[in-house]
Amino acid sequence: MECFDVAIVGGGPAGSTCAAFCTRVGLRTLVLERENFPREKVCGDCLNPSCWPVLERLGLAYRVRDLSHSNLDSVQFIAICGRNVIVDLPSGNDSELSVKRSLFDDLLLKRARELGAHVREETTVTALAHDENWKIETAIGENFSARILVGADGRNSTVARLCNLLPRPARERVALQAHIPLPENFGRRVVLQFLPEGYSGQAPVNETELNLCLVGTPPTISRLRRWAEGHFEITADQSWRTITPLTRSPISCAHENLFFIGDAARVVEPFTGEGIYYAMRSGELAAIAISKIMRGEDHQATLRQFARACAEMYRGRLWINRLSRAAVLSPRIASVLVQFAPVSSVVMRSLTARIASANDELMTKAE
Ligand SMILES: Cc1cc2nc3c(=O)[nH]c(=O)nc-3n(C[C@H](O)[C@H](O)[C@H](O)COP(=O)(O)OP(=O)(O)OC[C@H]3O[C@@H](n4cnc5c(N)ncnc54)[C@H](O)[C@@H]3O)c2cc1C
Repeated sequence: MECFDVAIVGGGPAGSTCAAFCTRVGLRTLVLERENFPREKVCGDCLNPSCWPVLERLGLAYRVRDLSHSNLDSVQFIAICGRNVIVDLPSGNDSELSVKRSLFDDLLLKRARELGAHVREETTVTALAHDENWKIETAIGENFSARILVGADGRNSTVARLCNLLPRPARERVALQAHIPLPENFGRRVVLQFLPEGYSGQAPVNETELNLCLVGTPPTISRLRRWAEGHFEITADQSWRTITPLTRSPISCAHENLFFIGDAARVVEPFTGEGIYYAMRSGELAAIAISKIMRGEDHQATLRQFARACAEMYRGRLWINRLSRAAVLSPRIASVLVQFAPVSSVVMRSLTARIASANDELMTKAE
């Protein structure tokens, strides 16, 4: 059985970032990924500007800008009645852009591989055992061993489930996502549109395609889909990707020789488009903690430091997320806010400013 310093389950933004930073400090690193990349994923495809400093440290910022993408210049909030508020996004090199996850995630995983991580795609983790080291079983019958295990396997984390840490599924909402032809004159805006049944997010991802997300409940999601078919003139045989839950309770990110990062640790309301940043930054923080443990630094103190740094990463931002979650759970109330534009635009503007501002310097201090 091959033995590694660190095994990371999941090769999304959290897992790839963690793997790249672990490998860079000389750790023998394994990534086990269920899918074969490049693959799409249910996501709004928007990169929050906070991602840029992490991408710089990965040596990837210019390569992300080289991917087919769209530079986004504004956010338009549309109420149920059709009234809307437009808020400009900051411009410049480190502004918000959208890029298909097939391209972005593939680039991150390639970077981990380039730096020396061992990456196994189409390899689903199915069982775990822990004595001195972790023993990891996969669906293809190949087993691995590692001193440290990282769960980076998303909101329905298998690692968390196998460790009896995954919160019980609540009755939750469901999201649908598709790439459809870009409507003429759509511009470079992100649209966040409240509808009686939920909400829709729309963003161009290149010159020809629009990312379209629909968020509703199991009973309303087919009505939302019919709305989208009419609104965007798409055919009923359009294929949609789907995901649930939209949010769930967080789980503790630091355990004895076991880390959770990205969505596996905490899932936030997607409305504010920050999940990729949290995934990448928590992956980087975990790599820092893992390298300290492997160097023999105080294990418990390092775990506490990592947990504090993760909490710090969300602090000051979760209230925005809770606010938007409250709004999207009650689209009618949110729509009233949009209708009273002179007052609500102040709220929307500060909300957008907070969401779209890079806060990575603050995070770096937490190390
Ligand atoms: C509707 C919607 C819109 C969103 N829009 C945005 C947005 O615009 N901007 C933004 O920043 N965030 C957005 N998000 C959130 C974002 O998609 C996530 O936060 C982000 O993908 C988390 O990255 P991750 O690496 O933690 O997990 P993931 O990206 O989910 O990656 C987990 C990986 O683990 C693999 N895996 C799972 N189980 C196993 C297993 N047993 N064995 C091996 N591999 C496994 C999966 O195949 C996957 O590749 C949105 C989310 C939703 C639902």
